[in-house]
Amino acid sequence: MGAVEIVTVDSPKAAVLRRRAKPVGKVTADVGRLIEEMIEAMRLANGVGLAAPQVGVSKRLFVAEVEARVHVVVDPQIVKMEGEALATEGCLSIPGWVADVPRSQRVVLKGKNRRGRGITLDAEGLLARVIQHEVDHLNGVLFLDRVVDRSTIREAAATTEVEPAEPAEPAPAGG
Ligand SMILES: [Zn+2]
Repeated sequence: MGAVEIVTVDSPKAAVLRRRAKPVGKVTADVGRLIEEMIEAMRLANGVGLAAPQVGVSKRLFVAEVEARVHVVVDPQIVKMEGEALATEGCLSIPGWVADVPRSQRVVLKGKNRRGRGITLDAEGLLARVIQHEVDHLNGVLFLDRVVDRSTIREAAATTEVEPAEPAEPAPAGG
């Protein structure tokens, strides 16, 4: 299989990470293949989420895998945000760095699944965080832009995409 390369901020293709991605519209067979490649790339990188711009495709879709459930959302729109939560995040596109990022505790998201059917996701906690992180990617926003307390930016041994760790003593794992 052709492993998909993840675009990082120091890669020659990094500009795609700062672009506002274009709507997908119809979920074609090509989009279906892209989704499969993204799920594979996310798993290879031990990530919990991956947005299309991170594989060099400026389209509005992301995949996530939280608590053994895969979510595919095409043309996502956050329709509700509630509460506040602070936790440590990392990003597969910013290897080696983590920081504490304030996010909404709960989000409601509308979009399409991989079959092009309308879906609504009501998410809390880690999945809500992953969704906000990935939707940011579709708008050219990176997690470091969201950090309020810059002193929490620190080097991490492992690179993760949104870290499922306790904010107190983060142990970069699997995210
Ligand atoms: Zn990311």
